[in-house]
Amino acid sequence: MRNHSAIWPSAEWHLNRFNPDEPIFYFSPKTLQDTARKFLEGFGGVVTYAVKANDQVVVLENLVGAGLRAFDVASPHEMARVRDVLPEAELHYHNPIRSTDEIACAIGHGIRSWSVDCLSELEKLIGVPREGTEIAVRLRLPIKGGAYDFGEKFGATPEEAIPLLRRVVDMGFIPTMTFHPGTQCVDPKAWATYIGRVAQIAQDAGVTLARLNVGGGFAAHRVGQAPDLKMVFSCIAHEVTKAFGEVAPELVCEPGRAMVAEAFTLALRIKAIRSDGSLFLNDGIYGSLAELRDMELSDRVIVLRAQQGQLTGPMQDRVVFGPTCDSVDRLPDPMPLPSEVAEGDYLLLEGMGAYSSSISTRFNGYGDQQIITITDA
Ligand SMILES: *Cc1c(COP(=O)(O)O)cnc(C)c1O
Repeated sequence: MRNHSAIWPSAEWHLNRFNPDEPIFYFSPKTLQDTARKFLEGFGGVVTYAVKANDQVVVLENLVGAGLRAFDVASPHEMARVRDVLPEAELHYHNPIRSTDEIACAIGHGIRSWSVDCLSELEKLIGVPREGTEIAVRLRLPIKGGAYDFGEKFGATPEEAIPLLRRVVDMGFIPTMTFHPGTQCVDPKAWATYIGRVAQIAQDAGVTLARLNVGGGFAAHRVGQAPDLKMVFSCIAHEVTKAFGEVAPELVCEPGRAMVAEAFTLALRIKAIRSDGSLFLNDGIYGSLAELRDMELSDRVIVLRAQQGQLTGPMQDRVVFGPTCDSVDRLPDPMPLPSEVAEGDYLLLEGMGAYSSSISTRFNGYGDQQIITITDA
């Protein structure tokens, strides 16, 4: 990934001027900072950013610029990356599975927030300094909230969570709980169900929770209307009051996708069109479109022809291939595009900042997207 220091007015302006042949992420720092402020001002608690969604330095720097001080990190590499940008950052190490070497490294980074989902991993934290350190028991419920489910891999069942929580207290740590409702979660009821169950578990365990981390999972704008974040925040606040009453824990959230998605527009170029109508792009599922293996297409695609502007008119479904020589490199669903599209035209995919560059491979020598900063929101 190369990041250019020049700043341009808009994606369209840059495409018209330079006709780039490589995939480009157009980055709007203003959009990122506005989104960060929406979380900081609207969510009634501590806002952390889940670094895995996009760990580019410009992302971390602009979040810090907007006032963010806390980050959810899953590996020593992510810890170092955040520390480089903000040495005094508050780091939450919420990957519940860790090697003993990783634990030692995290202690060196001064981690004060850990999450666990099983007893054996909790016992591995015996050497962690207790002072001001919370351990969050991660809960998993059999509900489907998101587009795909991070929770299938991690989380204790309610029955497992009770003894875990008691053991956290016995070990002398600050007891807290956490969950993740699944990424791109469009239904606030998923949070409501989790919050109600967390309160029940804490009560059954006889433990007062200092904090409750309601995870990430906040939806980005992918299809139809932009999701209403404020509505989700007020639903969470309402459920917490309902479930905990007077002794409500302090809230924490850890958005990845919803924080960063809107700040990047991905520009891809049509390399070739076959006589059967299928077309080849300069990036695909081995690159920045990797998530499309698990998620439906976004409807936020604009087609541009350099110097001529946006193509409209009747649409036609096209089979879309990526640039590598692997036949797996094909989008699972056909993409509706204006029927007059031609080789050399650009696809502008909006809201592509999350889980795009961060999971892109360099397979077959492709996947080297560039970042161009724009002032346009
Ligand atoms: C991935 C992850 C997040 C971010 O999830 P989004 O759906 O991108 O908001 C938050 N917390 C944890 C523990 C995660 O693993």
